[in-house]
Amino acid sequence: MKFGGSSLASPAKIKNAARIVQQFSTENKIVVVVSAISDTTDRLLEIGELARKGDNVRLRKGLTKIQMLHSNTAKAVSSRRTGKELLDRIVQLNKDLEKTFEGIFHLRELTPRSRDYVLSFGERLSTPIVAAAIRALGLKTRSLTGAEAGITSDDRFGEANPLTEVSYHEIRRRLDPMLARNEIPVVTGFLAATVDGSITTLGRGGSDYTASLLGAALSADEIWIWTDVDGLMTADPRIVKDAAVLPAISFAEALELSYFGAKMMHPRALQPAAQRKIPVRIKNSSKPTGDGTLVSARENSDGDKIVKAVSIIRNVGVVTVGGAGMIGAPGVAARVFQTLGSSNVNVMMISQGSSEATISFVIARKDVETAVRALQLALLGQGYVERVAAEKDACIIAVVGAGMRGTPGVAARIFGAVARKKANVRMIAQGSSEYNLSFVVSENQGPEAVSAIHREFKLGRSDT
Ligand code: ADP
Ligand code: ASP
Ligand code: MG
Repeated sequence: MKFGGSSLASPAKIKNAARIVQQFSTENKIVVVVSAISDTTDRLLEIGELARKGDNVRLRKGLTKIQMLHSNTAKAVSSRRTGKELLDRIVQLNKDLEKTFEGIFHLRELTPRSRDYVLSFGERLSTPIVAAAIRALGLKTRSLTGAEAGITSDDRFGEANPLTEVSYHEIRRRLDPMLARNEIPVVTGFLAATVDGSITTLGRGGSDYTASLLGAALSADEIWIWTDVDGLMTADPRIVKDAAVLPAISFAEALELSYFGAKMMHPRALQPAAQRKIPVRIKNSSKPTGDGTLVSARENSDGDKIVKAVSIIRNVGVVTVGGAGMIGAPGVAARVFQTLGSSNVNVMMISQGSSEATISFVIARKDVETAVRALQLALLGQGYVERVAAEKDACIIAVVGAGMRGTPGVAARIFGAVARKKANVRMIAQGSSEYNLSFVVSENQGPEAVSAIHREFKLGRSDT
């Protein structure tokens, strides 16, 4: 069971999470995965930046807020018997966090590695608090960091890749004996460590990934993701008020959705579960009896629904490499993507016009400058690439559904709906799985495009 930050946003919510664990632990062995409390990760990121810039006043203010949040929450959730040990631990972590920010402040240096160390405090603070809340209900439990639970990764700080074989082995070795003793392991989400012990993070939203890794390693019967909505929905409910909960969805579809769904779930989270065919349930922690969404290997066509969901990924930019000399020149695409790869820029979407005079691709907005600079250095002045252009104001809309495969006319309906909103489509790509058709519009036209498609395919609650 993984509890997201939104399900831990107050002492009452943490106690509720603990009660959920208690309720299901009578008939199941449970491993708990915990995110940072509400938006702590965002706050830590901000304070890290303030420290790097030398803004001591705002640094102190932000730090105190985080420290208070965690010590107050700790006091509120633990019992008198267990409270002292927890509070000592939180006080120690708060001190370590302060020293970390002081270090960054003095050096004016925030590296990917030190940033991961900073971010780790979110989960390292929340996990013992949740464990204490569970203990206060009379259950046996222990809190562990990702590394203590056996999760080892490479050293790609900020977006580390778990070394699955080693991790699976270690996870079993460490957690199986605890489960055998009826002890509930409470593990920090999001965090792993390199072989030599440096803390890494698995990318934003990475607690889902942790849950999936642990579930796969332990051959869990099911992986449950507790969040603040009733399940995976036909669209982001913040954009489409009428969005409906999807009762069931296949791994392949959910993968497309999470990859393009920005925040709902970590894009790689489903991989370990899908590989071992372990069903994943997404449930609302404030309505624990609801069915939520079941993600499984089964592909159910859901009546006559061709399209199942529409999602949006924001904060992206489009980069276009162009030049008449590119026509018929072999190896240009390879050079482009090699350059991006060696600059650690992840490409989300690619298109090449059949004239071959341009290649466009979509990347995270934060990577646009790096990408443009790297491509200019590597490609300009050699006779084929004449320009590297970037547009930072973009978002990807992804339309997902297994029923789209082999159904003619879907694209026409999608683009018809978008055109009626006068949104200009800049780029289109269809995954070869045909589960997903995605396209790019300017950021401010994104929400409207999502709503229009949602309406066109009658995905809303009021449509059924
Ligand atoms: P948690 O704190 O549980 O990890 P997140 O904020 O990461 O929660 O993800 C849950 C949020 O994702 C929801 O509150 C919802 O606003 C948003 N969201 C975006 N797209 C979807 C979708 N298709 N279905 C459900 N929720 C979505
Ligand atoms: N706390 C981390 C984040 O905000 C991981 C997670 O919540 O899944 O990205
Ligand atoms: Mg999340």
